[in-house]
Amino acid sequence: TTLTGTEIRARYLDFFASKGHTRVPSSSLVPRNDPTVLLTTAGMQQMIPYFLGRETPPASRLTSAQKCFRTTDIDKVGNQRSLTFFEMLGNFSVGDYFKRDAISYAWEFLTQVVKLPPDRLHPTVHPEDDEAPAYWREIAGFADEAIVRLDENWWGPPGASGPCGPDSEIYYDRGSQYGCGEADCKPGCDCERFLEIWNLVFMQYYQDLDGTRTPLPRRNIDTGLGLERLTMLLQGKESVFEIDLYRGIVDHFATLAQTSYGKDAKTDASLRVIADHGRALVFLAADGVLPSNEGRGYIFRRILRRAVRHGKLLGLDKPFLAEAATTVIKLMGDYYTELRTQQERIIEILSMEEQKFSQTLSTGLSLLNELLDQLRQKQQTVIPGEDVFKLYDTHGFPVELTQEIASEQGFSIDTAGFEQSMQRQQERSRAASSFVQATDERALDQILKQHGTTEFTGYQGITDSSKVI
Ligand code: ATP
Ligand code: MG
Ligand code: MG
Ligand code: MG
Repeated sequence: TTLTGTEIRARYLDFFASKGHTRVPSSSLVPRNDPTVLLTTAGMQQMIPYFLGRETPPASRLTSAQKCFRTTDIDKVGNQRSLTFFEMLGNFSVGDYFKRDAISYAWEFLTQVVKLPPDRLHPTVHPEDDEAPAYWREIAGFADEAIVRLDENWWGPPGASGPCGPDSEIYYDRGSQYGCGEADCKPGCDCERFLEIWNLVFMQYYQDLDGTRTPLPRRNIDTGLGLERLTMLLQGKESVFEIDLYRGIVDHFATLAQTSYGKDAKTDASLRVIADHGRALVFLAADGVLPSNEGRGYIFRRILRRAVRHGKLLGLDKPFLAEAATTVIKLMGDYYTELRTQQERIIEILSMEEQKFSQTLSTGLSLLNELLDQLRQKQQTVIPGEDVFKLYDTHGFPVELTQEIASEQGFSIDTAGFEQSMQRQQERSRAASSFVQATDERALDQILKQHGTTEFTGYQGITDSSKVI
């Protein structure tokens, strides 16, 4: 029998509990005590104070299912494996076990507990790590040539300094029919053949400001296994959107749009976007994120607007997000109980913002139509960049929408002019802000330097969400 997503999550946590790990709940999507980070992007974030020895962990072995959000993956939503909001299963060792057990537990879980076929699994290691491949040979019987060496299998620190180390990632070979066909297609390739499912991070070095690495006195393990990806494999689905934890959401929107999933590529793409964004918004709202024009509130707003826009592409003219929240809560509320306790609030925030944006849309539409009439009278077919920018900046009207309507009606956009206006605006706001905002890695670097937090633990993923969409 096929396991449900909920069962797979439970199997994972039970397995690691049986190996002496203490279960900890997911931390909030809003990281505590860290102004440099907008949203939680990995399970290890709540472990940072333990890894650094600043706080005492509840136990030296911990396991969790963590809510994660990555804006950096927003453009990938629509491929078979990438979501903005996803669940990361993790087991952590705070100065307890290290590489050998991390690899052995992972192998046991994948091949004995959820019973993935071993010959489909491919470990990758860092080229400078000789220990991990030795364990993969010993524990799982891999021939040395079968272990792929990837430079990208290195973790942190992002800028200044912090703990770091090699990692070992496990990929699943979905078969050559998913491949790009290139001769060098192997784990790490961007196509859909080799699916990255699990990252085992070996935090064994401390990197100082000069880039010098010294061994850490206590070595830690941090792992992240994507629940939706594992579930997709175990349920034999083509994408993460078709697993049981997701399909209900996709179908909900498909029904609303009087269509069905899997009929048309363009429709499916929009269905995936609104399903992903809808689910993400419910979780963001549950963790207290409110729409606004900056920081995480801005992420919320952009995600919602993108969802509404794709809803429009599907012909959804009435507000649809708040209603879908109920479906999300039904599917996920048993484990993430905050969804149930916050249900009313979530629905209220979503419907308010959606309504507001619908107004923005109709105001924008009438302004745009006026503009197009004027241009037609002057027999012009190019919309000046400044006008496009004004629609976007002053009226919140999405540029892609202007673009699309323009081309429908035989107009084009002066993109160079638009970008110029955009740049001028950015220069103005840069000059105006005396406060360093954690909106990109440069800013993060600056914060680190200012405050001299040389021990900040670098995790590549952490800064993900702080990038503006
Ligand atoms: P990818 O290369 O696919 O972007 P990643 O290397 O950025 O993934 P990690 O930071 O190593 O991912 O996170 C650990 C695990 O979390 C991944 O192996 C994967 O199973 C899962 N994961 C990461 N990003 C996503 C995403 N956008 N959607 C779904 N699952 C994800
Ligand atoms: Mg990634
Ligand atoms: Mg990767
Ligand atoms: Mg990875």
